[in-house]
Amino acid sequence: MTTRRQFLASVPAAAAAFSLVQNFCFEPRAARAQQIDPLQGHFHDKGKAPSKFTIEVLEQAKSALPLADTRDFDEQKRGFIAPMKDLKIMADAGHVAWDMERFQFLDTQDEFDSIHASLLRQSKLNNNYGLYEVIPGIYQVRGLDLSDISFVRGKTGWIVFDPLVTAEVVRAAWKLFQEHAGEGLPVSAVIYSHTHGDHWGGVRGIVDEADVRSGKISVIAPVDFMEFTVSENVYAGNAMNRRLFYQYGLLLPAAPHGYVGQGLGQAVSAGASGLIAPTRYVEKDIEEFEVDGVRMIFQNTPNTEAPREMNTYIPDMKALWMAENVIASLHNIYTLRGAQVRDPLRWSKYIGDALYRFGLEAEVMFASHHWPRWGNERIQEVLRGQRDLYAHMNNQVLHLANQGVTINEIHNVYELPKGLQEKWFCRGYHGSAQHNARGVVQRYLGFWDCNPTTLIPLSPADSAPLYVEMMGGAGKIMARGRELHDEGKYLLASEIVDKLVQAEPQNQDAKDLLADIFEQIGYQQENPGLRNSFLAAAYELRSGIPQGETASSSSPDVIRAMSTELFLNFLGIRMDSRKAEDMRFTVNLITPDNGEKFIVELENATLTNIEGFLADKPDLTLTINRSDLEQTMMGAKTLEAQIADGTAKVEGDVSILKQLASIMVEFDPRFEIMPGTKAMTPEATGYVESGILGQTDPYEAVPRQTIAE
Ligand SMILES: [Zn+2]
Repeated sequence: MTTRRQFLASVPAAAAAFSLVQNFCFEPRAARAQQIDPLQGHFHDKGKAPSKFTIEVLEQAKSALPLADTRDFDEQKRGFIAPMKDLKIMADAGHVAWDMERFQFLDTQDEFDSIHASLLRQSKLNNNYGLYEVIPGIYQVRGLDLSDISFVRGKTGWIVFDPLVTAEVVRAAWKLFQEHAGEGLPVSAVIYSHTHGDHWGGVRGIVDEADVRSGKISVIAPVDFMEFTVSENVYAGNAMNRRLFYQYGLLLPAAPHGYVGQGLGQAVSAGASGLIAPTRYVEKDIEEFEVDGVRMIFQNTPNTEAPREMNTYIPDMKALWMAENVIASLHNIYTLRGAQVRDPLRWSKYIGDALYRFGLEAEVMFASHHWPRWGNERIQEVLRGQRDLYAHMNNQVLHLANQGVTINEIHNVYELPKGLQEKWFCRGYHGSAQHNARGVVQRYLGFWDCNPTTLIPLSPADSAPLYVEMMGGAGKIMARGRELHDEGKYLLASEIVDKLVQAEPQNQDAKDLLADIFEQIGYQQENPGLRNSFLAAAYELRSGIPQGETASSSSPDVIRAMSTELFLNFLGIRMDSRKAEDMRFTVNLITPDNGEKFIVELENATLTNIEGFLADKPDLTLTINRSDLEQTMMGAKTLEAQIADGTAKVEGDVSILKQLASIMVEFDPRFEIMPGTKAMTPEATGYVESGILGQTDPYEAVPRQTIAE
């Protein structure tokens, strides 16, 4: 029988998925899924080749690309010292943590008829894999993860910028670096540029926490770093995890008809992730101090690419580190996996600030993804282009919105100016102009287009049957849908066939036709998030959501970074209020070791907490050290066990904990997105019927680790 800590989440090719959240580990299936030969036709038996219409669209798109500008290829190669010879890097747990073999097919052909030429170009550029000199004294290991790791020579050792996602790949990067350029010197400091997991998760691969505690190694980060590493992804964490399957195409094998990289990098490593808390925070807007003898000027850029982020200028090397604020792509303003919409105007202004503060004299610019830029002219070109990219998107989307263009039209109306389209580093390999434009409208005006029909609409499943009836039934829709498909009118075809699938989730012919339609739209996309989303939906329509099970565990480091309040807030999200109509209680929670106290109340079927207060007449008082509570938060020890062995002290009505337990829900990361795709296996049914949910420990949540981006 499945235990409650074993999620039904085992899916092929998805190891990387859950490494993002560090809660999952399911390797054998992942390995098997990749045993296909990417060049042997389509990986799915229902899969289709690109149609003549798709090929035409892709050819036309290619003809509009600035192919004469090949500087990226020079910059990507420049300073190459040594390749990383092992295409696979193993995780300590025995599975493959990093697999570059999957992406070798990209270099076997100049073009593929199922991949947008611009996306293919970016993926070929991301096939760099090894050690590079940025300038003497600055090195990068690239291609061992979604992000790059950078080493800057200090007085006594190496200052590490952004230690990737997992420890295993960081160790491999460090070994490669030491073999050729590290001079046997140790790590002297670590700088986390921002809060996303691909910029700190691998820190334990090269830093011993004892050396940080003793003050031997300093760890530097932007102000409020710890708070924001966790908070961005907890409350809607399960939904974000699910949506990653679409944005990151986690079910798709790497193949010309499937996954072809993620734009920012090829993929996310699947080893062990951890977090060592910073010892020094950069608090002011601009702050200058020495790091291991190297003068550095830090520029805080909050609420740009990440909630907390900072650029760094090294004046004595004329080297500008732009974190993830300036990379070789248009970034996400709206992230498809789900996140609060970012502020493109502020983002643009911080780039402008960096341009005039540092960029007028910088001679090299490097970042946490992609490759560096050399020479002041080139640096200014890139900074100015990126500054204008985010500002244009903000200003001109609002320009159109102020003339009545809605969130449902903006992506068909808004266009980047030609000057920006012709700059490779402004093209959409992470964000796309289309989904970002919708994001800007969402940021300022929200979801509603102001047509009352869309204000409180019927759910798709409720309105679809009428559409099907009015269109003359399934047969007519299938015939017309196929006709539109055969004419290459895929978006129109998806409008009507989707209605049929919504109305008849078990109609496999309809699902297969919709999959064929989605697949062609997917092939036509330049943006990997859009491509993956269409191809992922096609996969699930054809095959259903894969079954299996997997163990999960939360990273202790991340749990430690989570505030008790955040954790209690999340319990309020996890509880099913429909089961709590008749419940009412007040709990005092005291964590003596950090001096915190909370009132936790259930009333009106709502669980709330307030920090800093204790109720006079609580129904229950729970006293437990925060450090012990963490054991329960990460699922290592139940609260019941903590009470039984005296670690936690209770006073009052202990049955309240059972009541609370009975209303907690374990979120399943594989809920249905497209209708009729939920595969029900005996295993899955068993999970539901075993009554496991009823045994849930109310203080045992499975909060998600931060997500790489
Ligand atoms: Zn990143």
